[in-house]
Amino acid sequence: MVHGSRPASSPAPLLKGVTSHPQLSSAAVTWEIDAPAERRTAVDAVLARSDLQETMPGRLRPCANPECRRFLLDRSETNRGRWCSMALCGNRMKARRHYQRTREAAAE
Ligand SMILES: [Zn+2]
Repeated sequence: MVHGSRPASSPAPLLKGVTSHPQLSSAAVTWEIDAPAERRTAVDAVLARSDLQETMPGRLRPCANPECRRFLLDRSETNRGRWCSMALCGNRMKARRHYQRTREAAAE
């Protein structure tokens, strides 16, 4: 997943050599990821994204503010969220559109 028009690169190189092993506790079996320390954060991000694609398909997307680098996870019923945060980008973009409309109206 990327912002802008750059094509997404495959996460395959990040996952090369990554393995997991079972961790047994009294309650359950969990799987521990074995990844090189320098790639651990990137591996966690790839796994989290994969999990979201499976559990919440079509819900993770880039913020619609072209100057914002954040993503949003849309939990709304309509799945039409556009902003990482209404307080940050939503209000900022609405104010910008309002400003442009009033400028265009004044210029006519
Ligand atoms: Zn944003």
